[in-house]
Amino acid sequence: MHVPFCLSLCPYCDFVVYAGRSARGPAARVGDYLAALAAELDLRADALDASGVGARPLRSVYLGGGTPSLLPPAEVARLLDQVRRRFGIEDGAEVTLEANPGPDERGDLTGFVAAGVTRLSLGAQSMEASELRRLGRRHAPGDVLAAVAEARRAGIGSVSVDVLYDVPGQTEATWRHTLGVLLDAGVDHVSAYALTLDDPDAEGLTGPLGDHLPTRPGARAWRERARAGQDDDRAAELYLLADELLARYGLQWYELSNWARPGHASRHNLAYWHHDAYEALGPGAHAFDGGPLRRWNAARLDGYISALLPATPAATSTLSTASAASAASAASAATAAPAEGRTRDASPRLPPGGEERLDPATFAAEEAMLGLRLAEGIGPEIAARPAVARALDWARGHGLLEDGEGGRIRLSLRGRLLSNEVFSRIA
Ligand code: SF4
Repeated sequence: MHVPFCLSLCPYCDFVVYAGRSARGPAARVGDYLAALAAELDLRADALDASGVGARPLRSVYLGGGTPSLLPPAEVARLLDQVRRRFGIEDGAEVTLEANPGPDERGDLTGFVAAGVTRLSLGAQSMEASELRRLGRRHAPGDVLAAVAEARRAGIGSVSVDVLYDVPGQTEATWRHTLGVLLDAGVDHVSAYALTLDDPDAEGLTGPLGDHLPTRPGARAWRERARAGQDDDRAAELYLLADELLARYGLQWYELSNWARPGHASRHNLAYWHHDAYEALGPGAHAFDGGPLRRWNAARLDGYISALLPATPAATSTLSTASAASAASAASAATAAPAEGRTRDASPRLPPGGEERLDPATFAAEEAMLGLRLAEGIGPEIAARPAVARALDWARGHGLLEDGEGGRIRLSLRGRLLSNEVFSRIA
């Protein structure tokens, strides 16, 4: 479930995010959004019921963003209750909430635990104040440590941090410092991503049905400057350093960008890489039925809200978050009475978006590429497919593969650095 609100926008961010007045204050759109999200949740569950497939209890629920920790815990509890009612949630399921570390962003962690959250994913990014400033982040390094300590006190059993490398101005020393401080703080999981500065406009992803928002001119200029400060060779060295340091602290590498203590690998993200089915709600969210259908919601909030709350002109609505629960309840069933003050003149309908049906060759290639992202690699039956086997022959000849257990094949350390070379040959 995507929560597309942040207090401010980071210039490198390509997620679907609305900030500033949309996120808080009298003109905030959070209340309408939550009502629309509740309506989408019911429509997606209805569609699954009608398909005859039926919902299986979820092994994982993920509230991503944006900054879901801006939501009041009561709203998180209500959303999770609705998910439980309509889809089912397995006992012991992983329930992750993404949070930003700043004191005005990380929210009420104790309240989130009471709502059912079991795992926290913190957007730390760096433990160097100068890098955080350069990245346009609101928080300071000390906020990350405070958030980790608070999460532990709240009883969150699994704490993950996101960190960035290939940041302009970053050095081996600052990267070592960032990782060392976080590891000393006892985090359970680290996602280390190279700073990517794509241009979603140039890639054609920002049209009315696109899953990205247009890049703002200021962010575009920032990215152009930042690109000049990036370096592939330095990025490779920082990746190798991370792999070594994290292993020394007992975090095992399990996916190209992810390391975890035993038992703390992200079940949610593993579902993506295992090509499992997943539902997705909110603007820009992508869902997959396990094959062959992939669908996505368009990124724009206006279209999303007006489809799901058809009687509520999104541009003029000023519902407060506190009143969202009643609006959400109304929106969560087409037969429900309109929330107070609303005139419901049409039923909610699914938001705009798109879909693609993967042909067998694309499905097979995707399965191989996703599997090769993982430390467990791919089995012989996938490796033997002709298009995959040709690419793997090339990769083996360049030292990019190694043999795993039971005839499995995985990327070598050098292969991890050059994974896109392998993937482009499989695709
Ligand atoms: S806090 Fe995260 S989601 Fe929000 S704008 Fe920054 S990078 Fe994007």
